[in-house]
Parts: sequence; structure tokens; C-alpha cells
Amino acid sequence: MSELLKSYFALNERILTATELSGRDHSCVQLLAVSKRQPALRVRELYQLGQLAFGESYLQEAIQKMDELSDLSIQWHFIGPLQSNKTRQLAARFDWVQSVDSEKLLIRLSEQRPEELSPLNILLQVNIDSESQKRGINPSQLEALAKQAIRLKGIRLRGLMTIPKPGKSRAEQERSFAKVAALMQQIKPLSAKIDTLSMGMSADIETAIASGSTMVRVGSLLFGSRGE
Ligand SMILES: *Cc1c(COP(=O)(O)O)cnc(C)c1O
Repeated sequence: MSELLKSYFALNERILTATELSGRDHSCVQLLAVSKRQPALRVRELYQLGQLAFGESYLQEAIQKMDELSDLSIQWHFIGPLQSNKTRQLAARFDWVQSVDSEKLLIRLSEQRPEELSPLNILLQVNIDSESQKRGINPSQLEALAKQAIRLKGIRLRGLMTIPKPGKSRAEQERSFAKVAALMQQIKPLSAKIDTLSMGMSADIETAIASGSTMVRVGSLLFGSRGE
């Protein structure tokens, strides 16, 4: 059995166990395989094991991989920092953009999504620990931005994404995740399409799932260290 196969099975098992322990339906947490800094060959290998959704953080690297893997039906998610001069390529090439944190980006993605494609799935990134360096929307501005996202053509608001401050205690993590879960409940009534809460990475999968995550984004635990 390959190392990747072993870690993929082990990870799916871990997600399932955490989901069941939280008393949630076994299929309600999706795995996003974070393939940044991993070669296309490994993405192909994982796809052949059944993984369809992949996350990338760097646009040029992602586009190169997409071109190499254009024979596969991969669902591509952008999870990296966004720059407004890159939105045209994002809107044309990705299925999901998870790191949207401003009105300007929403409008550009909406206008630039090619008409022949289905709407671009959008998650609004929430800055939950109020870190001045980190990107993300301040919770107080979220509802207004969500309402606007719902009105725009070419995009479909699906929910929220968050990256908590690293190195926190489990109790602090739980508090942060609970705040995001509450924001999710606040915006859910705005649209029936809002169903995705993207939170949890290699280091905090169980806490995130216990707090209501519907999508965990996992890189190093799956592929091994990126050597960054
Ligand atoms: C890199 C990255 C991940 C995956 O992190 P791991 O710790 O390797 O699982 C998840 N989300 C975002 C936004 C990332 O940039």
C-alpha cells in the first residue's frame, strides 16, 4: 500500500470518527485535500483513490497543475490570499474561492465569471481572532457583505471559511470555532444555498468537526510535510 493511500484512508477514518462522536450525520463533513507545493503527480494519485476536491493557495502554481491535470474532473478550490489583479484568472479557472474578504473582490469575481460556467462558489473568510495581520472580514461587517454576495450574478454564496490563529489551546480554539459557527447560523437564513463551513486543518480536525465544520482543509497530514 502506498504511503499516500495509507494516510488518505487513515484521514478519512479520523474524519468519520470525529463526525460520529459529535453526533452528526456521517456524510456531513467533506475533505478538501490541500495540494499546494505538491506535484501534479500526487494530485493525480489521490484523485485515482477517489478524492475529487483539491485546494490551492498560489495562483500560478495552481494553473500549471490544472493544465497538467485537465483530463481529470477535479473540483478546484482557491484558499490563498487574494489580490484584485488576479480575480479574472480565479473566476475563469476555479470552482470555489474560499478566501473572499471584501466587497471589491466579490464584485470583480461576479463580473469576471464567464457566462458559460456555472456560478462560482464563494466562501467569505472571517477573521475570527482579530489579528491585524491576517486577512478576513470583521464579524461586524459580515451580514452586510453576505447580503450583497447573494444579490450578485455569476457567484453563489455557500458559507464561511476561517483560519484561526495558530498555537492556541484547545479551549481557545473551541471558542474561536464556536464564534464562526454562530456567524454561520446568523447568515444561513439569508439563502438556502448557504451550507458550507470550511474550518479545521491538520492540527485541529477534531475540534473543528465538533464545532460544526462541514469541510476540513488538510495538507501536511495527507501528503506529508511541504518542506516550507
Ligand atoms: C496550507 C493551508 C491548509 C492546510 O494546512 P495543513 O496544516 O498542511 O493541513 C489549510 N487551509 C489553508 C487556508 C492553507 O493555506
